[in-house]
Amino acid sequence: MTRLEGHCECKKVSFEIQQEIKYFSHCHCSQCRRSHGAAFASYIRAERSCFKYKSGEDSIKSYASSKNNKRIFCENCGSNVMFIDGRDPDGFYIAMGLINGEPDLPLAHHIFVGSKAPWHEINDDLRQHDGDPY
Ligand SMILES: [Zn+2]
Ligand SMILES: [Zn+2]
Repeated sequence: MTRLEGHCECKKVSFEIQQEIKYFSHCHCSQCRRSHGAAFASYIRAERSCFKYKSGEDSIKSYASSKNNKRIFCENCGSNVMFIDGRDPDGFYIAMGLINGEPDLPLAHHIFVGSKAPWHEINDDLRQHDGDPY
């Protein structure tokens, strides 16, 4: 069984995921860019039942970034922890930047490339989608 571990920048919030990861994306939408302060945000999907907080569950805050979606972050250091997509009641989209080490991952793809930052150029051969294909 694959086991991934991660924590926020201040280490208050830590978690583990026990499953093989099958989804990996780089999201270029403007909400991800702003909330991560970056050219894009990288996520893996975890089954909710395979995700467990190890510490800091009382230190998370959530922001409703749209009617059905929430962004979870550490109230102490501001690290993005996950994106919750209201259309996916079984999944959490975990911010890959919080994950330790070098876990096995599927090939990533770029999503919402239609709204990517004009100052950022995608230089790899990964698949690109204008929106979210799922
Ligand atoms: Zn933190
Ligand atoms: Zn996004």
